[in-house]
Amino acid sequence: MDQVTLVVVRAIESGATTTKKIVDATGLSRLKVERALGTLEKQNLAFRESQGSWALGVPVMPTVRQCGSCTLCCKVLEITDLKKPVNTACSHIMAGGGCNIYSERPRQCRTFSCAWLQGHLDDDWFPATSGMVPHFSLDALNIQVDLDCRDRWREEPYFSKLCELSLNGLLASSKRNYATLVIVGSDKYLLLGRTIVPDPTLFGTAFVPNGRETFHYWKATSLEHLQRLNERVMEIHRIQQEFGHCAIPLDDDPRPPYRPALLELSRQHGGAPTQ
Ligand code: SF4
Ligand code: SF4
Repeated sequence: MDQVTLVVVRAIESGATTTKKIVDATGLSRLKVERALGTLEKQNLAFRESQGSWALGVPVMPTVRQCGSCTLCCKVLEITDLKKPVNTACSHIMAGGGCNIYSERPRQCRTFSCAWLQGHLDDDWFPATSGMVPHFSLDALNIQVDLDCRDRWREEPYFSKLCELSLNGLLASSKRNYATLVIVGSDKYLLLGRTIVPDPTLFGTAFVPNGRETFHYWKATSLEHLQRLNERVMEIHRIQQEFGHCAIPLDDDPRPPYRPALLELSRQHGGAPTQ
């Protein structure tokens, strides 16, 4: 998926569900947004709901468990076709679990299954008791947290597992790269291992490791900004490979050429890479 399409996906996930709202949220031209939506629609990854708004779809994944008495996704997720907002119990939930319009439930309900139901997480994560609905979207593992237990994700055993999942998603060698996002009402956090990035932007986050499970990061404010940040990150990796060390700059608006400034900063910090 190219960067423009990725930004459009993130905008829809953040609640910009009309073309105009996506244009406003991203600053991308209408033409680029429409092209990206057309590509997603052709791949059955985006759909027009009956209200005319856009919704994302992910391929239906096989499930290995049963929902049982759990109905948490029917509370914490937004269902656009029913105009059901996030963190509000759906009026169709039946006492003891289940849906009273099961055969006619909206597409979003029919295609949704959480990551616990798919067998990706152990029974600590049963949503009805953990208070969290983990689910994969096109580019992310989302942890949608019930507002009745808004800090549960920071507790153990959950936080260590989220750190592990985040590192797996970041690893270039893993089968499928994904971001790990925790959504608590209107608050959103990106996890980079044990590093928590509050309010990640639609344009992405550049990062370099500064410990075994922690990262230094820079949030991008446009696609062009992300490109510069990532170019500097690549230069940092090159210097680290060549000299075994590179100081991590704190400024977040790098301009090329990156190498001389990085080498100078490293000398000032005593790492002293020499050509
Ligand atoms: S959160 Fe998961 S287990 Fe609970 S009802 Fe939804 S899909 Fe089923
Ligand atoms: S319509 Fe049924 S499946 Fe969909 S959110 Fe409501 S209760 Fe859940």
